Amino acid sequence: MEKILVSSCLTGQNVRYDGKVLREVSAVLRNWKEEGRLVEFCPEVGGGLTIPRSPSEIEAGSGFDVFGGNARIMNIRGEDVSDNFISGARRALEIVKSQHIRIAILKSHSPSCGIGRIYDGGFSGTLKDGDGVTAALLKSEGVLVFTEEQLAEAGKMLDKLEQTNES
Ligand code: SF4
Repeated sequence: MEKILVSSCLTGQNVRYDGKVLREVSAVLRNWKEEGRLVEFCPEVGGGLTIPRSPSEIEAGSGFDVFGGNARIMNIRGEDVSDNFISGARRALEIVKSQHIRIAILKSHSPSCGIGRIYDGGFSGTLKDGDGVTAALLKSEGVLVFTEEQLAEAGKMLDKLEQTNES
């Protein structure tokens, strides 16, 4: 059975920076959880950050640039938390590799989990193009990543992978 890595805040776990729990868990995710497919992980907590914690954003550039040392992740208090984010992303990759996971569902816009659009570093709610640190690392390793707004596409890919496994 194909397993799916999922941002654990999307399944209602208390891991978010603001200590708030997302109460509305999608029926699709609930179903996959009941099937035993979901491997829930929060890269920021996995990287040693607390709950709650100060909000953080990628200062300039995107997740790829953080790995190259060309961008930093700063929290709103001006502290550099890049190492925590990198450590959490590497742990996510370890999980994916050890469990042969090929699909990830990641929370949109997060400096860790965001795909395609992330907050711009100004703490004003403005978005810019780019991936979060964990999303960037997983993509670079060939993991198929989807946001919580792309569950239909993720489901189609899941079906395709399972059909391939059966043939
Ligand atoms: Fe953790 Fe990612 Fe959710 Fe942020 S978006 S709380 S890093 S799982």
